[in-house]
Amino acid sequence: MLKEEVVYVCPLGLSRNCERFEKIETPFTNHHIDLDSANSEYWNLIRICKPCHEEHNRRGQDGDLQRKIKLRKRNLALQYFGPLAVSVLRMSHIYKSTSAMPAMVLKLLEKGYLEIANQNTFSAGACEHATMQDYKITHKGERSCKKPVGAFHSFKKPIYTCLVQKTASNAG
Ligand SMILES: [Zn+2]
Repeated sequence: MLKEEVVYVCPLGLSRNCERFEKIETPFTNHHIDLDSANSEYWNLIRICKPCHEEHNRRGQDGDLQRKIKLRKRNLALQYFGPLAVSVLRMSHIYKSTSAMPAMVLKLLEKGYLEIANQNTFSAGACEHATMQDYKITHKGERSCKKPVGAFHSFKKPIYTCLVQKTASNAG
């Protein structure tokens, strides 16, 4: 999952010797974002090249760097699951269950973040072909939405709200 997420490219580019691409001879390593090596949850790990890992360890106490890494992980997770899927996950975190189009949440289901709450699909609104299904969040999904560093907790509002606001401020 972490390999799929970075697609064999070092997401940090921190070191001058950053290897950029992961090769069989020089595999990347998993870095613990909150610096707690016992915490190996998906959202606490980011796959980076060795020179960047070493450079990070040299600059250990750099707050800006820690923020940059968290942001990078958040963007990788967002890209990996898709922004709509992340919105669905957050909605199911807030309301415990939610409805979505099956195609939207495939990865969340596959990776155990959501589970099907109700097998019966139903169509939504005027679109007869748009079928929806009910989903509920799993414990794993809950953890990814919770503080302190859950990859998804920092999305304070569902993404579509942010987009609407952005569009409004661009127009004004
Ligand atoms: Zn690197």
